[in-house]
Amino acid sequence: MRVRFWGTRGSIPVALTSADVRDKLVQALLHASGRTFNSYEEAHAYATAELDFSLTHTFGGHTPCVELETGSDSYFVCDMGSGARPFGQHVFAKQARRPSTVNVFMSHVHWDHIMGFPFFGPAYVPGHKIRIHGCHDVLEQAFRLQQSPPCFPVGFDQLGATIEFVKLEPDRTVEVDGLKVTPHLQLHSGDSFGFRFEHDGKSVIYSTDSEHKLENRAEAENFAEFFRNADVVIFDAMYALAEAISVKADWGHSSNIVGVELCQMARAKHLVLFHHEPANNDATLEGLLKEARRFEELTRGDHALKVSAAYDGLEIDL
Ligand SMILES: [Zn+2]
Ligand SMILES: [Zn+2]
Repeated sequence: MRVRFWGTRGSIPVALTSADVRDKLVQALLHASGRTFNSYEEAHAYATAELDFSLTHTFGGHTPCVELETGSDSYFVCDMGSGARPFGQHVFAKQARRPSTVNVFMSHVHWDHIMGFPFFGPAYVPGHKIRIHGCHDVLEQAFRLQQSPPCFPVGFDQLGATIEFVKLEPDRTVEVDGLKVTPHLQLHSGDSFGFRFEHDGKSVIYSTDSEHKLENRAEAENFAEFFRNADVVIFDAMYALAEAISVKADWGHSSNIVGVELCQMARAKHLVLFHHEPANNDATLEGLLKEARRFEELTRGDHALKVSAAYDGLEIDL
């Protein structure tokens, strides 16, 4: 399976500003002062090996949209945040005018998770088939509502693709075009659902917009069971731990440190921090990643956990 991240920011899309770009450039120049490079390749190798990740990359711009590739002709994608727009371009390029079947799995219908759908190209083209899966009764209503006047010029009924809504039941595993999917209820305003995906002996958890109260042992064990032995856990790490347990308690999100603890309990292999706070810049996000890695090292028993931070364009093969 391959996991491809099209959108990794929480709440609202964020773009790098001119000042951000200039600052990265200035810091890179300072870092390289005295060095000479004779080719693009030489400079590229230096930037990749020696500069901080937050100088050479940027973390999530688009809101949540994560693709799973299984080798099937069908597409699988979690959430329709603003990352759905470039994902749609990818579908067009790969299909080369052939119609597609796209299976969407919706964690919930907050705006940051549906806002990309009106810009998802295949929705406009007859022949394409889109199946939107989720546990919420209001799933279809939410998609229709955001394309109603006066908020959007093209109504949902004007879309050319065949669009179908499929109701899933929590904790009931179904198979969708060869991919096994199990939804699981999470604590979040209006409820959200995590998904466990299994294919070819590999498992991926998509668990965003989910608050955890680890002092409640039963709750922690419930999620450790859901994450059990997963190869990849994509986890809502919107806040730092101190924020998550103080000022932002009950805001419906979790932290980098809670992600490490739950993945350790579950003996998961790879934690991917996701749904980044829009107020955090790249340096802050890299700091949260380093903090999580340090915490993992300090608390490691006989099981090592890999920790990454998601960014738009990240691909993970498993
Ligand atoms: Zn969200
Ligand atoms: Zn939400």
